[in-house]
Amino acid sequence: MSKQERIKILDVPVDMVNMKQASRRFLDLMETPECSLIVTPNSEIIVNATKDPELKKIIESADLIIPDGIGLVYASRIVNCPLEERVTGFDFLTEILKLLDERGQSIFLLGSKPEDEENPGVAEYAGYKMKKQFPNLRIAGTHHGYFNSEDEAAIVEKINSSGADFLCVAMGAPKQEKFIANHQKELKVKAAIGVGGSLDVWAGTVKLAPDFYRNHGLEWLYRLVKQPSRYKRMAALPVFMVRVLTERRKKK
Ligand code: UDP
Repeated sequence: MSKQERIKILDVPVDMVNMKQASRRFLDLMETPECSLIVTPNSEIIVNATKDPELKKIIESADLIIPDGIGLVYASRIVNCPLEERVTGFDFLTEILKLLDERGQSIFLLGSKPEDEENPGVAEYAGYKMKKQFPNLRIAGTHHGYFNSEDEAAIVEKINSSGADFLCVAMGAPKQEKFIANHQKELKVKAAIGVGGSLDVWAGTVKLAPDFYRNHGLEWLYRLVKQPSRYKRMAALPVFMVRVLTERRKKK
């Protein structure tokens, strides 16, 4: 991707891609031999990246940086490089599943809660649901996202020996991005993405916001109503907008 198609918001890069362009880019990355990194920053992740140099570096090194969230679309207008649309991590993952299904390729699902006495592991159940919707997709393996750093080598080995073409990591940011970046050289998958809570949505443990909220870019409001304990994290959106406006004023 050329530098011109990559804009900066609070000095953090974001690719100017709509869903169609992102999908095309994904297919290109699946043709390259080394493991490519796909990240899906939203306003909260961009603000965190301004305070976490390791996260910022990882985003800068990514092969595809998806604009996940309406905050980024508004910010892009403020910096005079308007993004056409937001591409949510969940929607992009669904598009990826469709493309993998068309090609009969496989995915490894890493992250979310392990099984307990009453429920299967979230990743395992998400895989079952994905397979129902995309019958040609192969689920190469699953593993929950609650492990210590000493377990990481064994998990990388499990992913590699599964022969998966693609890796989906759902452990929340920046954990998922750091896991992929730390093991990118050893991973034998063609590409890997961090998708936050998307496996929970697939498994049905968390509900996707209804269409009204999604169509108006109001997923954050829906999540705030459903999970009020997240209010501190939600504060990232206004903080983000104020910072983008302040930076813009400084540059004028
Ligand atoms: N998670 C995990 N390991 C951890 C912490 C979180 O696998 O050590 C999972 C958690 O179970 C959830 C996902 O990470 O499925 C993402 O959570 P969150 O809603 O915070 O992500 P967001 O979409 O907001 O980035």
